[in-house]
Amino acid sequence: MTESDNTPLLKVENLRKYFTVKDGRLFGSGKKLMAVDDVSFEIFAGETVGFVGESGCGKSTLGKAVLRLIEPTAGCVSFGGRDLLALNRKELREIRKDIQIIFQDPYESLNPRLTIGEILEEPFVIHKLGNAAERKIKVAELLKKVGLPETAINRFPHEFSGGQRQRIGIARAIALKPRLIICDEPVSALDVSVQSQILNLLLDLQKEMNLALVFIAHDLAVVKHISDRIAVMYLGKIVEFGKAADIYANPQHPYTEALISAIPIPDPFAEKNKKPLAGEIPSPADPPSGCYFHTRCPYVQEQCKNEMPELIPNGKNSLVACHFSLSSLQETS
Ligand code: SF4
Repeated sequence: MTESDNTPLLKVENLRKYFTVKDGRLFGSGKKLMAVDDVSFEIFAGETVGFVGESGCGKSTLGKAVLRLIEPTAGCVSFGGRDLLALNRKELREIRKDIQIIFQDPYESLNPRLTIGEILEEPFVIHKLGNAAERKIKVAELLKKVGLPETAINRFPHEFSGGQRQRIGIARAIALKPRLIICDEPVSALDVSVQSQILNLLLDLQKEMNLALVFIAHDLAVVKHISDRIAVMYLGKIVEFGKAADIYANPQHPYTEALISAIPIPDPFAEKNKKPLAGEIPSPADPPSGCYFHTRCPYVQEQCKNEMPELIPNGKNSLVACHFSLSSLQETS
């Protein structure tokens, strides 16, 4: 991380995104589904903050709400000191040069009728940058940057593998030299060997461009590989937030411990000591009382069923939302 000063590039405060879902009653007003519930974090230039959790924990909704691809219900998002939620459509389009997004399945976001050259030229055309000859040079530079041959220009998305298509998605995301990229499960659909190539490409580009990355994934091993800090999410809330190395070596929240336990280890003895996650993630439209994790937590106590724990510093370099974090449980056992 190359933090030039103490001013965060992106600051998210108390962000909420609620949806209304049908509750089955004919004239019912519907239930509130809290996809993102009171999430706050900051990210600095050159830093990667990873968001991890099972599917349905709200991490992808969070990424889209930050970018206003879906409108947040409440909260504040400021980028480079500007209030993103106060921008009109024209201002938002302008600032999106600086904030880009990469999706899990680039094939869905790449127009199948356009050649790769046309796809990569599009951001320059939309923002009226350069003439045709200059744009052609830019497209060739982008392909080189992401490790694709110049001959890709005249080919179509379906002619490429998943990993190559993700490279095209990355090339499009960096075309306008953004300062922040939201990476929404960018390697989840790829083979393990291709995953590491894409992660290394993102790390190289980050270094070269001093990019900030919000990296969303369900696999903690992947998130750890790329992140400076990690936020663990459960049912729309951050339950643990800290430096990647600390969280991985010394998790404080029982849910983080369970996610780490789920990472395969090539050692049968270590496998035996694992604490796998029990049960299914509850519905965010009908979350449990108290601590949302209490229905699956192996350390649950009576207080957990009634009182929601706050995300607070735990004295171990991280923020934790747990009445009985793992270090305090270890001290009392
Ligand atoms: Fe488990 Fe209780 Fe901590 Fe929730 S508050 S994670 S139920 S120990």
